[in-house]
Amino acid sequence: MKQFFTAGILAWNELHNDRSMPWKKEKDPYRIWLSEIILQQTRVEQGRPYYERFIAAYPAITDLAAAPDEEVFRLWQGLGYYARCKNMLAAARTVAQQHQGRFPDTYEGITALKGVGAYTAAAIASFAYNLPHAVLDGNVYRVLARFFGIDTPTDTTAGKKLFTQLAQDVLPGQQAGTYNQAIMDFGAVVCKPQTPLCKSCRLSSQCEAFQKGLTDLVPVKSKKLRIKKRYFYYLLSGNGSLRYVRKRTGKDIWQNLHEFPMIETPAPVTDAELLSLPAFRALAGPGNIRIESASPEKKQQLTHQTIHARFLRIGPETEVLPPEGFRAVSAAELDRLAFPKIIVDFLKG
Ligand code: SF4
Repeated sequence: MKQFFTAGILAWNELHNDRSMPWKKEKDPYRIWLSEIILQQTRVEQGRPYYERFIAAYPAITDLAAAPDEEVFRLWQGLGYYARCKNMLAAARTVAQQHQGRFPDTYEGITALKGVGAYTAAAIASFAYNLPHAVLDGNVYRVLARFFGIDTPTDTTAGKKLFTQLAQDVLPGQQAGTYNQAIMDFGAVVCKPQTPLCKSCRLSSQCEAFQKGLTDLVPVKSKKLRIKKRYFYYLLSGNGSLRYVRKRTGKDIWQNLHEFPMIETPAPVTDAELLSLPAFRALAGPGNIRIESASPEKKQQLTHQTIHARFLRIGPETEVLPPEGFRAVSAAELDRLAFPKIIVDFLKG
């Protein structure tokens, strides 16, 4: 069954796989690593232009390592999960400073880089060096769970162990890179999350899920994702063309990105309720500050939370003091700073 599976994936790849990606067949570990970091939590279509922009701006890992943080964050803007960008820069600088600019060529060396987990390390090791390490991402979990009919939850310790071993068992040692790419493509194109193409699938004769009508039931997850709603009210204040902004720090989302003074509430509030909040006074200052205009609500979906945001112009301008921790920046500087996508969309109008 395992041999049938591996041979089937390779044959499908050889005969039918026409999924194109700019980094496919790439052998340069820097480019593979960059594409994998960009694609963590990001769809291929969204990640592709970012990959191309990064390669154009930083053709070698040493170029990326030498770039100023703010410039790299600005280029990353819109991709989200900024910890990835921070780790990416740290890893590039490790390669530049501790490996003389040469990307590590062992699985252990690759795993030691910041932001590189088991999946990314296996992808780089197999694509760049054909090392026999199986990738295990959402596509691979799904294909394996369906074909072998496994209902052990994938997000448990037992499930992770079982799937890691199985993925490694079905990996053809001599063709690790080709096979790893093939199984992920197969999951994306044939054994899709919804409506898999079972009728034309060359694995169907031995596929447990297809034979038993279980394709909708596996893979199994033990926990359902709970999405938290958050309500952000941005106060647009400043003096003339200057705007008050600060860099976000701490452990919350959007670390290292900039923001306007903001009040967060656990539920939506009216303008009158907002004006009466102590947080409003703390940010807007004393006096007769009012809300002069408000944008319609904007929404940004993150993995575990939905951000609802409104942008409120407050005034009169001369009475709004810069809140503590914020600084006044010009429109030109505003253009150079990195902001979360929801603010970028608002600024673009
Ligand atoms: S038969 Fe269907 S469920 Fe089974 S591997 Fe093929 S596409 Fe996936």
